[in-house]
Amino acid sequence: MTGVEAAHLPAIDGASDESVRCAVDTRKIVVCVEDDLDPVAASAAATLVSVLARTFPHIEVRGDVAIGANPWGVSMLSELLDVIERARPTAAVEAEHEYVIAIGDSIGAADLWVGGGDWTVLVGKGPQPVATCRTALGLHAGAALAAAEAVKTALAPLGMLVVPMADQLVWNLIDYHLTPAPPAAAVPERLAIDLVLFGAGSVGSSTAGVLACTPGLCGTAVVVDPDTFDATRNPPRYPASTGNESGSKAAWVAELLAGAGLSAEHRAERVGDWVRRQEHPGVEATVVSSVDTLDGRLQVADAVARTTLTLGVGGMALHLQRSHHDDELACPFCEYVSAVPTLTQTAARAAAVGLTVERAGQLELNHGLLTEVDVQAAVAAGRLDPARASDLVGRRLEDLLRRAYAEASVPLAGGGEARVGAPYVSLMAGALAAAELLKTAMSIPLIDRRVDLDLTGVPLGVVSRPPRDLTGRCTCSSGLRRRWAARLYR
Ligand SMILES: [Zn+2]
Repeated sequence: MTGVEAAHLPAIDGASDESVRCAVDTRKIVVCVEDDLDPVAASAAATLVSVLARTFPHIEVRGDVAIGANPWGVSMLSELLDVIERARPTAAVEAEHEYVIAIGDSIGAADLWVGGGDWTVLVGKGPQPVATCRTALGLHAGAALAAAEAVKTALAPLGMLVVPMADQLVWNLIDYHLTPAPPAAAVPERLAIDLVLFGAGSVGSSTAGVLACTPGLCGTAVVVDPDTFDATRNPPRYPASTGNESGSKAAWVAELLAGAGLSAEHRAERVGDWVRRQEHPGVEATVVSSVDTLDGRLQVADAVARTTLTLGVGGMALHLQRSHHDDELACPFCEYVSAVPTLTQTAARAAAVGLTVERAGQLELNHGLLTEVDVQAAVAAGRLDPARASDLVGRRLEDLLRRAYAEASVPLAGGGEARVGAPYVSLMAGALAAAELLKTAMSIPLIDRRVDLDLTGVPLGVVSRPPRDLTGRCTCSSGLRRRWAARLYR
C-alpha cells in the first residue's frame, strides 16, 4: 500500500454516526504556548499538539518555541503540523467552536491549562505553572490528560459516559498519588537505562517517543516486534509517528531510541523466538512489554526478566504493572490465565469478525495469516469497511479483531456507539513506562506495583498490588520455575 491515499483518514471510525464525527470536526483546538518554555518542556508541548492533531482536524498553534530533542525531527513548534500532516485527519465541515489549551501560567485566557514539570502533573481550569524541565515527564502525562479532556468536552454532549475533571488535577509519576511529586534527587546529566522493548506498536512507540524527548540518555535498547507499519491504520494512533514510516515497526522504534542516545538494535521477530535465541536464561535489562496477544504475553512471562513492566491498553483504559518472578505478586501473565481462549471464546471471536469457528480456530492455533477469502468473509458479514479491508490480507486474526472492535467506543445517548481514535491513551502509557525507566536510571523505587487509569475519567491516585494467580494454571505456578528464577538473579 502507498501512504498517499492513506494520509487523510477520518479520526472517527464508524462514520455512520455523523453526529460524533461532527462534534469532533466542528471543534477547533487552539494550543497556546508561553514563549519562555525551555526546550525540554517545549518538546512536551509538541507532544500535546501531536496527539490533538491526530484526532481533531481543526487545530491551531499560537506562540512558537524552540523544541529540544523529539521524535519528529523538528526544531520549532511551528514546523510540527506540516511534518505530521500525513498522520492527520481532514475536516468534513467548518469549525464552529474553539477549545483553548494553554501551556504555562503566563497565558491569561484558556479553557484548560497544562503545567507541571519532571514528575508533577498539573492540569486545571486556571493557569498552571511550568517548572524548568530535565525530563518533562509530568508535562507529557499532562498532555495526554488535556487531550482526553478535549475529547470528553466534545463528546459528552452526545452522551459519552465521562467523569469530567474538577477545577484542578495534581498528580505525580513518582508514587502516583494526587499530590505534587515528593522530593526526588536532581535528575543527573547522564541517564543510563538498559531496555528490552517487547512490542513496537502504539504503546511501545509512544514509550520511545517520550524517551526521545529526554536529553542525556545512554545505555542499550533492543526492540522486538515482528509487525510492519500499516500506513493506513497506525499513524493516527501512534503519537510519535509522522505518517511517513514504512517497513519494520521494530526498526523504526529502534531508530527513535538511537536518536535519543541509546545503543539500540531491533529484531523483527516474535518475543518467543527472541527469547529462544538468547545464550543465557533471563533478561537483566528492564523489559517493557506492550504485546497484545495472549500467546505473546505468555512468551513475555517466559522471558523471566529480572523486572518486567507490562502495559495494557483497552479502549480508553490502560494499566502499568511491575512484576518479578520469585514473589507472591502477579506475574506478567497471571491476569490473562482466565482469558486463554476456550472453544466458546473462539466462537465469540469468530462471530465478532464474521469467520467460521473452524477458520478462526485454525488461525489462532497456527498463528495463521489472513487470506483474501477471510477478509472478504468479514466484509460480507458487515464487520469491515470494504474500502479499507484489503490491507488486512496477510495480517493476523488479532488485527482483524481490533479493526472490528476498533478503538475507544463511545456509548451514545439513545443507544449505539461510535468509535474514536485515542492516541492520547497510548501517549499516557508511554509516559508511565518512560517514568519507570528513568527511575531505574536514578535508583528511585519503581511502581509498587500497578496503576490503572481510565481516560474517560481522571487519575484516582491509587496503586494496587495484585496477587499471583493461585488457580495453578499460570506459568508462574511451577515451584521448580520459581526456585530457578529466584536463583537466576541472586
Ligand atoms: Zn503468573
